[in-house]
Amino acid sequence: MTTLIYTHDACFEHRPGPSHPESPERLKAVLAALRTPEFATAEWRDAPMGTREQVLMIHSESFVEEIEDASPTRGYVPLDGGDTIMSPGSLEAVMRCVGAACAGVDVVMDKEFKNVFCATRPCGHHAEPNRAMGFCIYNQAAIAAAYAYEVHKLERVAVIDFDVHHGNGTQAAFYDRPELFYASSHQSPFYPGTGAASETGTSHNIVNVPLPRGCDSAMFREQITAKMLPAIRAFNPELMIISAGFDAHHLDPLAGLNLTDEDYAWVTRELMKIADETCEGRIVSILEGGYSLEGLASSTAVHVQALMNH
Ligand SMILES: [Zn+2]
Repeated sequence: MTTLIYTHDACFEHRPGPSHPESPERLKAVLAALRTPEFATAEWRDAPMGTREQVLMIHSESFVEEIEDASPTRGYVPLDGGDTIMSPGSLEAVMRCVGAACAGVDVVMDKEFKNVFCATRPCGHHAEPNRAMGFCIYNQAAIAAAYAYEVHKLERVAVIDFDVHHGNGTQAAFYDRPELFYASSHQSPFYPGTGAASETGTSHNIVNVPLPRGCDSAMFREQITAKMLPAIRAFNPELMIISAGFDAHHLDPLAGLNLTDEDYAWVTRELMKIADETCEGRIVSILEGGYSLEGLASSTAVHVQALMNH
């Protein structure tokens, strides 16, 4: 079994504006890095459209109606004070993100592929059940986890998030759902302000690993090894979903951590070891943030390379 990569041209058509860091150029950089001979054995598919039913597994009906009503035919519509913006192509882009994530769950559960990388945008982990936020409209990682629970009847699904920002949206959606586990490493204090170690969920199903500005490779690996990996192992997931943001990279212009490409390869391999022990290696990894085009491209490449080396 090999690695499947989902993407879709519609994901270029979410255009939050010329000076917005979450630009279509990000996906171009990722795809350029992955369309090289070393990835020739991965299979590529167009992301299917997600369904409204899938979105409603995490988001409320009133919020989904709000997003559908806000979707413009031209120009821009700001959703949360200007950070999160809808353009005419945004709704299809986010539905491709949702579709890729849920189809990714299907193919690993059906043993068609060992693991999946969703090269899709915009990111999703700040989107709460009732609120778009932080460049995110729908939360595809949280939706994929809920989908695995609802459709594949899994009893334990883990979302692991190494984006430099805390995934407040995923945490909010999972807080009182013991079957859904969320572990996040993130810069703290930093946007969005949540993610203290004391935020544990109602069943200790949330594990937050805040990292100080300037955190380097050694500290990152030590903190992940001590605090995150044992908690994932103890949860014993039947499926692992990765919120793969690459903005903790030392080149990233928005954040202040100092990770290298090799750290992303390392954390991917560590998560794969746990997935091999607990869930036959099933991983669906979903692109989140990463705003240095150079750092995003190189760190995504080593992440996907690690996923392929199983
Ligand atoms: Zn981020």
